[in-house]
Amino acid sequence: MIQIKNLHKSFGDLKVLKGVDINVEAGQVVVIIGPSGSGKSTVLRCINKLEEPTSGTIIVDGFDIMDPKTDINMVRTEATMVFQQFNLFPHMSVLDNVTLGPIKVRGMSKTDAMRLGMDLLKKVGLGDKAGNYPEQLSGGQKQRVAIARSLALQPKAILFDEPTSALDPELVGEVLEVMKQLAREGMTMIVVTHEMGFAKEVADRVIFIDEGKVQVDTDPETFFAHSDNPRLKDFLGKVV
Ligand code: ADP
Ligand code: MG
Repeated sequence: MIQIKNLHKSFGDLKVLKGVDINVEAGQVVVIIGPSGSGKSTVLRCINKLEEPTSGTIIVDGFDIMDPKTDINMVRTEATMVFQQFNLFPHMSVLDNVTLGPIKVRGMSKTDAMRLGMDLLKKVGLGDKAGNYPEQLSGGQKQRVAIARSLALQPKAILFDEPTSALDPELVGEVLEVMKQLAREGMTMIVVTHEMGFAKEVADRVIFIDEGKVQVDTDPETFFAHSDNPRLKDFLGKVV
């Protein structure tokens, strides 16, 4: 579903990614962890071209995103992003936040979009908040709206960039629960997170990025129990 090959990304003189290779099969959940500033967000942002890769190949659902003929808006609906800071539209109701994409991007009728939007809000446990505005919601509720908004685009994959890092601890669980449900339903997901419990329980693979490269890419059991990578051991010692 997503193939990243030899991805390099520099900002001016700063070489952030120095040859990253990641493959994600349809239905897989891949968790990415790594120190702050190691380029985790940059990897996700390159996948849907919020950042322009410096070099390398990225294929999303068969489309080469570096090919000028590829419609980037289409790629962004196939692989949607959920951000740490939710990025909801503050002046729009919860339901309008969710239906905007399907109406504008997928060309869905307003009636169909509202039906889909209500179904998705119910799915994330917010059927009763459709008419509210984002500022009236808790952080956990806002992030669940953001997930419903991503789902409304009917994507092939969802890219989560530290979706629970901005939340009060007691609100983290409700968002992880929704993500676990998506994983069980077979959604393809790349999740940048520090939630090691989620990684252990849900991930098919866990990837450790450091120094601009993938240092470890393996199943969760091996990752947490048997990794002999000294940098990963050091990192896990600080976060777990
Ligand atoms: P992470 O998500 O792992 O914390 P990022 O991908 O956000 O790391 O950032 C990796 C490095 O790239 C950091 O040093 C950051 O300051 C730098 N960086 C990220 N985005 C930009 C940008 N738009 N312009 C310049 N430097 C950037
Ligand atoms: Mg980041």
